[in-house]
Amino acid sequence: MLSINKNKMGFSCEVFPPKRNDDIYEIYKTLDELKLLKPDFISVTYGAGGSNSKKTATIAAYIQNICEVEAIAHMTAVGMDDTTLRALLFELKKKGINNVLALRGDKPKTMSDEEFENRQYRYASDLICEIKKQGNDMFIAAACYPEIHPESASREEDIEHLKYKVEQGAGCLISQMFFENSVYYSFLEDIRKAGIDVPVLAGIMPITTAKQLGTSVQLSGSSVPNELSSMIAKYGGDPDDMKKAGIDYAVRQIEDLKKNGVDGVHLYTMNKADVTMAIFEALK
Ligand code: FAD
Repeated sequence: MLSINKNKMGFSCEVFPPKRNDDIYEIYKTLDELKLLKPDFISVTYGAGGSNSKKTATIAAYIQNICEVEAIAHMTAVGMDDTTLRALLFELKKKGINNVLALRGDKPKTMSDEEFENRQYRYASDLICEIKKQGNDMFIAAACYPEIHPESASREEDIEHLKYKVEQGAGCLISQMFFENSVYYSFLEDIRKAGIDVPVLAGIMPITTAKQLGTSVQLSGSSVPNELSSMIAKYGGDPDDMKKAGIDYAVRQIEDLKKNGVDGVHLYTMNKADVTMAIFEALK
């Protein structure tokens, strides 16, 4: 089971299951490379509303048992009921996985408003509470938002809900991606003041193409500092230069986070082992 060393900056990565079944070997190849970096854990995302949930468990099992790296399987409240949850937790345990990232999830395009509204577990905190109630000893992580969750009315309210989520049993928090470290530091200050004392891992997304920035910002709502938009304007037309510039941007973010003593960095790898390895190389 995952244990986070608060005295040393941790490093973890995130991968997502490929859409096509045939591409599963591609992700195994990526994981074989990522394991050489000895991350504290590798997490695997869960398809919106539970689509692809079997692939999440299969890939997490590969990480845990073949790569011998601690695996975290993501799961969402959307598309979940008590029976599905019980079966999923049983399946994960059977595969040797002891860590989950419990999320609310967003409404998939294929789900009706009514079905989304009538979900059994409203928030990630309800899912966490139920996982605890089901009496297994899973380590539970949860998400947090340095620029507040887009649906929250205020920062104070979002932090209050985050605190409640931790009180229900989240043992660590993984942040949404951010591109400006000062945003993260002021968030950390506020949540520590509010009494949230679990480790918080900083979510870093290396931007290696102009298109990727557009998609990531659309999904996350993270703000884009001038330096990053200038970088895209300058290098966006040249794939090699853009990749180098994106890696350099992420390295500078991580070096500054390290200097400021953050608990850990969680890299959104986009299943690109070469980018993650280049970041590691540069950090040496
Ligand atoms: P919650 O913590 O439930 O919060 C959602 C909103 O409800 C917030 O505005 C919050 O303030 C509010 N809220 C919370 N509790 C209460 C309460 N008790 N009363 C009233 N309001 C409340 N999505 C996927 O589909 N699959 C993934 O694998 C996935 N991985 C992710 C990994 C990370 C690290 C992050 C940051 C996000 C990930 N997401 C994933 C996206 C996530 O599902 C969405 O951001 C979703 O909108 C919120 O999920 P949450 O768990 O943070 O929600």
